[in-house]
Order: sequence, then structure tokens, then C-alpha cells
Amino acid sequence: MKNSDTFDLVVIGGGVIGTGVAWFAIDCGARVALVERLEFGTGGATAVSGGILRAFDRDKTAAQAARHGMEIFRNWKTLGLPGETGYCAAGSVYLLDNDSIQSARVIRDMLHSEPYPVEFVEAQRLNATFKWLKGGAWGGAIYEMRGGYGSPRQTAKSLAEAALARGLEYFPAQAVARVEQNGDRLSVITDRSVIQGANVIVCGGAGTEGILARSGLALHLDQRIRPRAIGVPSFDGSQESVQLECSIVDEVNITYVRPLGGMRYMVGANLDRWVDDPHSEPSLTCEQVSDGLERGGHVANCLDQAVSTGGVCGVDGYTASRKPVVGRVEGCNGLFVASGFSGGGYKVAPYVAAVIATEIVGPLRSASLRIIVKNGLGEFAQRPALAAF
Ligand SMILES: Cc1cc2nc3c(=O)[nH]c(=O)nc-3n(C[C@H](O)[C@H](O)[C@H](O)COP(=O)(O)OP(=O)(O)OC[C@H]3O[C@@H](n4cnc5c(N)ncnc54)[C@H](O)[C@@H]3O)c2cc1C
Repeated sequence: MKNSDTFDLVVIGGGVIGTGVAWFAIDCGARVALVERLEFGTGGATAVSGGILRAFDRDKTAAQAARHGMEIFRNWKTLGLPGETGYCAAGSVYLLDNDSIQSARVIRDMLHSEPYPVEFVEAQRLNATFKWLKGGAWGGAIYEMRGGYGSPRQTAKSLAEAALARGLEYFPAQAVARVEQNGDRLSVITDRSVIQGANVIVCGGAGTEGILARSGLALHLDQRIRPRAIGVPSFDGSQESVQLECSIVDEVNITYVRPLGGMRYMVGANLDRWVDDPHSEPSLTCEQVSDGLERGGHVANCLDQAVSTGGVCGVDGYTASRKPVVGRVEGCNGLFVASGFSGGGYKVAPYVAAVIATEIVGPLRSASLRIIVKNGLGEFAQRPALAAF
């Protein structure tokens, strides 16, 4: 710490990434401030996310990061993490298209372990294994019996409340205008305060690019983080059919289903759209509701003739490659970014937060966590690079 007014780390953004970074950094002994334009867990993608938890991904580096994320979610208490995440190990099924079964098997072999079994289910066994499944053109499925879903909002709340109890300095309801280099420190300038930090990390989700732009910084073109609205309608399913309890990703019908309890389900519509304002509160469109109903109806018998019960629409920060941008900003001393999670940030959030906190502050206290994060993010994330002017 440079002096009593300078924090070791100022975190911008109180979503599931920012609260995670704050908690891990405090756990490592740092003096930390968190600035949030609303309240932690109530803005951005974290507030509305369905929170599907799975390790399998077509991208090997994303699968590796998610596997580490799942390890942390599954062992939350034993690893010394605080509060509840709402993690429900209801199982997760990834329905595969016919064309790339071989590559899916390779990733399945990489992910499978005794504590976290990942099975390949052959096409001809699908309907016998999953009684809720419709007949369809799937080439097989990846089944993670310990996958499922959690609550991103609850996770952010647990992390932030524990960080507050351990000395986090919290600046709620303050929008960060910009970050300024100020000798060997950085100043975070909000509409009401100037907060000094030896290090600053921007975890502003879709708002990240605006904060950087107002600070006179622009990421390399292919690292641009643009706001995209994701619409997830919800439905009451039929009582007569076998109920769905696990979460589903279906790459043939391009959708996902997340049980909400009872007969209710969230179903991903495939009509996401770019928006200009990262803080807009886009509404769910009628097209998204009928698209979700149609796609869900191709997956599960209980979603035939389902009745719409509303749903959510939220904005996440997307990059062109869908790889997040995480790490130190080269050429800007003490500045870090962790953003651009492109609609899939919850499952990797605790892992990414632990890795980046280690990079900024130093080794984690828990030896088991140190083992989990030791490989870093590899090629899962892009290291922030500034655009040349
Ligand atoms: C509808 C939907 C469904 C999803 N489903 C899943 C899923 O099933 N599984 C999964 O893994 N992921 C899912 N995701 C993605 C996941 O939720 C996000 O990637 C993740 O929550 C991103 O967290 P974050 O902390 O980076 O950003 P956010 O949650 O967006 O948090 C950013 C925070 O920064 C604050 N902020 C922004 N600008 C400023 C500023 N100028 N000053 C101060 N504060 C600022 C915002 O208010 C916000 O609180 C979903 C996302 C959406 C929208």
C-alpha cells in the first residue's frame, strides 16, 4: 500500500466476477475497494443470468476453465469460500449434433474424472437414458451428473457480504466515469468520489468498454467488448409429461433449458441482439417468447404446449471470438481488465477471479485453491492489448 488513502486494489463492478476478485484479494491480505453503479449482484448480467453450470464446451480451453470452475463450485465450503451459491447438482446434458462426435469424445475424455464423471451417451441410448427427451437428430450427448445450475446473484451476494465483513470498502450507487494515471497510482473517478488504487481492475461487464474509452483507452479491435442482449423466456411445462430436472444445452436446435423449480423452465431463445447502451434494460420480445417455445418444444416432451410465464432479458459483454479479456493492460501500469464473458461467465467466475487475484495480489491462502489455479487461464482468455492510435 502506498499510503492510507491508497487501496491495494480498486475493483470496478459488483457482478459475479468483480465480487469474486474482491473476495479473493481480501483473502490474500489486500486492502480492497469495490465501486458499483447500483448494488452488488443487481446490475449487469449477473442479476438475470440463469446460471447453468457445466464443464463441457466445444472449445477445449473453455472446457478446461469451466472444469476448474466446477471444481470450485462443488467444493465451495471445503475450499473456504463464503456463503451459498445456490449450486444444485441436478445434472447437465449437452445434446450433440451428428457431425463432430469424435471431437466431443476427446473433450469428454479430458474432462472425465472420478469426482466429476462425464459420460458420453450414444444416440441409440438417448431416449432410454433421458425419459423426458423428444425423438430427434442428435448424434449423442455428454452427461455430467454433477453439473446443474446455481444462482449468480446469490453467489455475488455471498462473496461481497463476506468481503464486507472482512474490511472491503464499498462504494455503492456510484458510476465510474474514468480511470486516470496519477504518478505511481491510479485514480478511479466516480460521480461522487475519487478513489486511489495501486491497482485497478475493470469488471464492468458490458460497461467495460465505456469505462476504458472515457479513460482514453481502447482495446485492440478484436478484443472489443460489445453489449449484447440475451433473452430467456420462461414457461410452465405440461404436468402430464416426465419433468425435467437437469439443465440442457442442445446444439442441434440451438437452445438451452434451465429448470426453475416445479413445472417452470427458462428456455434460451436464439434471437439475441446487439444494443448500444450497456446499461439498457431491454425487454423480452414476443419473437423471443415464441422462438423459445418452439426450440424448447423440440427438446423435451414437457415443453410441448407450454404456457409463457414471462422471462428475463439481460446484457452481457461479448467479444468477436467470445473469448473473455482478462489480465494486466500492457502499457498502463496497475490497470487490469476481466470482462467480455460473452454469455458464459458464471461457470468460470470463481476460477477466473481466483487466478486474476493471484496475479494482482499474490498467492491464495488455501493450498487446495492454489493447486486448482496453478495453470492460469491459458488460451481461454485474451490478454488485454491496447489499440494503436
Ligand atoms: C440472460 C443471461 C443468461 C445467462 N446464462 C448463463 C448461464 O446459464 N451460465 C453461465 O455460465 N453464464 C450465463 N450467462 C453469462 C453470465 O451471467 C455472465 O457472463 C456473468 O454474470 C458476467 O459477470 P460480470 O461480473 O463480468 O458482469 P456483470 O454481471 O454484467 O457485472 C458488471 C457490473 O459492473 C457494473 N458497472 C458497469 N459499468 C459501471 C460503471 N461505469 N461504474 C460502476 N459499476 C459499473 C454493473 O452495474 C454490474 O453490476 C448469462 C447471461 C445472461 C444475460
